[in-house]
Amino acid sequence: MAPSAPAPDEDVDVLIIGGSLVGLSTAMFLGIHGIRALAVERHASTAIHPRAGHFQLRTSEVLRSAGLEDRVRRRSEEQYLPNGGINNVESLAGREIASYFPNLNAGVEEFSPTIRMFIDQDALEPILRERAVELGAQLRYRTQCTALDQDSDGVTATVKDLDGDNELTIRAQYVVAADGNRSPTRDQLGIAMRGHGLLSHSVTIYFRADVDLSPLLAGRDQGVNYVTNPVLRGFFRLDRTGNRGFLVVNLVGDTARPEIIAAYPSAPWANVADTIDEARALELLRAAIGVPGIPVTVEDIATWRAVADSAERYRDGRVFLAGDAAHTMPPNGGFGGNTGLQDAHNLAWKLAFVLKGIAGPDLLDTYDSERRAVGDLTVEQAYARYVTRVAPYLGTEGMQEIVDDWSMEIGYRYNSAAVVLETDSHPPQAPLHEHPRESKGRPGSRAPHVAVERAGASLSTLDLFGTAFVLLTGPDGQAWHEAASRAAGALDVPLQAYVVGGEEVRDPAGGFAAAYGISASGAALVRPDGFVAWRAQDAGAASEAALTNVLETLLLRPRDAPSEASVSTTPSH
Ligand SMILES: Cc1cc2nc3c(=O)[nH]c(=O)nc-3n(C[C@H](O)[C@H](O)[C@H](O)COP(=O)(O)OP(=O)(O)OC[C@H]3O[C@@H](n4cnc5c(N)ncnc54)[C@H](O)[C@@H]3O)c2cc1C
Repeated sequence: MAPSAPAPDEDVDVLIIGGSLVGLSTAMFLGIHGIRALAVERHASTAIHPRAGHFQLRTSEVLRSAGLEDRVRRRSEEQYLPNGGINNVESLAGREIASYFPNLNAGVEEFSPTIRMFIDQDALEPILRERAVELGAQLRYRTQCTALDQDSDGVTATVKDLDGDNELTIRAQYVVAADGNRSPTRDQLGIAMRGHGLLSHSVTIYFRADVDLSPLLAGRDQGVNYVTNPVLRGFFRLDRTGNRGFLVVNLVGDTARPEIIAAYPSAPWANVADTIDEARALELLRAAIGVPGIPVTVEDIATWRAVADSAERYRDGRVFLAGDAAHTMPPNGGFGGNTGLQDAHNLAWKLAFVLKGIAGPDLLDTYDSERRAVGDLTVEQAYARYVTRVAPYLGTEGMQEIVDDWSMEIGYRYNSAAVVLETDSHPPQAPLHEHPRESKGRPGSRAPHVAVERAGASLSTLDLFGTAFVLLTGPDGQAWHEAASRAAGALDVPLQAYVVGGEEVRDPAGGFAAAYGISASGAALVRPDGFVAWRAQDAGAASEAALTNVLETLLLRPRDAPSEASVSTTPSH
């Protein structure tokens, strides 16, 4: 008889490797679904550098669903002017070359109950950590995962206590590798990265100024200021006092000269990191501010690589890649951390539903099909913004056209087995993004925001989503409401049903049905992550059998025999 494996030291449902932005988000979102994960992080605490600072609309929405909107907004307002913009200047004191985003929140109320925010990653992470712990997550610092060994029943991880130097084994049902762009887990699994590769060896210079620098902007936007001049290319983020901030430098020297194109990225102009020291940092800082001799102090310098690559797969058996481990992109457009946080949001409900036996294990394959497609698109869009805003010398060959920010932030759509696609009107090969004004509740897209009232309080339809499936029907959709409640009860699937425009949920502007692309008797089924999974134009096909079939299909439950009712792939009439 083969000797049985030694018993693990600990058992958990989900082990998270990495306790930074994405690891903490994963722990928090799992906690919302009642799964108490363990996250191990080799550093002593949360991030020490600001890094991510621009948090997009979808991120604000999922943070709102986690109960964090007020805390994050308060912290954001302490740090930054709330509605700053993004532009490109010769220097802070120089001419404006381009304006990309005049006001970060102009027009948001049409689409969302919340706003875009600037908040530094090192200020956001403690808020995520606090919420994750409130929800039951365990976080273990100075603990490094050194090996993973998976079989058909689970994963055995070896983790090392970096202070005590002792090792222990942890048995997990699933592992989420949120271990950053150099992801040791990804390497161990042999998952390759592909894309545009290394773009530059960049630096971030953290500084303090003895004077308020914001008057130099003379009323132009203070949020993210790209700098383009013959000395450097990069961007500033100046905090609300105007006395502190950081300067990212991606390129040095006059990159407008055509002869430099051939030698990137090892060329000196794309490798600021190799020669940086305090004196050089000060020189670059002054050139970017545009005022010789201005009294500034360099507080710290971080070096990092601007890369635009995606992992060839996000799943290996019971191990999932999330965040920078799955996609690494230049910070232009502020996509990296946002995309990772939304990976976590997508994966958490699926892991929870599979662990609780509500969904079949194949639901977990849809994490790869949904998030990898979005990750690939986003890496290309970050690359396109890097080329146009920072490194035009790279040329437009192989570069996607820039997709507008609304479509990127709240218009990307999922095309997977966890969505009943309306293939007649929107084939799977249709673009992966659609402007939120156009998608109108199309399955695979983010469920639209409609301002509604419940028990006298104003809220958004988005506030109804989070832990269960939610069926929204128009004011004449009672038949769907009853069918859904019966089907979910029989299948033991968590589902809440609301008639929007009825007694419980009021629709003061009467806009719900049109926003969701249905009639007053139609219905839309929204997943726990706030994406529309299926909809019916009217009540013609309303039956328990139809909804049973929809739910079983979406949850990828193993089925003994094909059901009589088939899942409609066009809106039912
Ligand atoms: C200058 C700059 C500006 C940026 N601006 C933005 C922005 O405005 N908006 C935006 O969305 N993004 C931005 N980003 C990107 C953002 O910072 C990253 O996308 C984000 O940090 C990714 O988070 P992560 O948790 O996936 O990885 P990381 O933050 O890299 O964290 C990975 C963690 O895993 C830990 N780890 C690794 N291996 C192990 C192991 N074996 N055991 C235990 N722990 C391990 C590491 O210690 C680390 O803490 C910016 C980045 C830079 C550099």
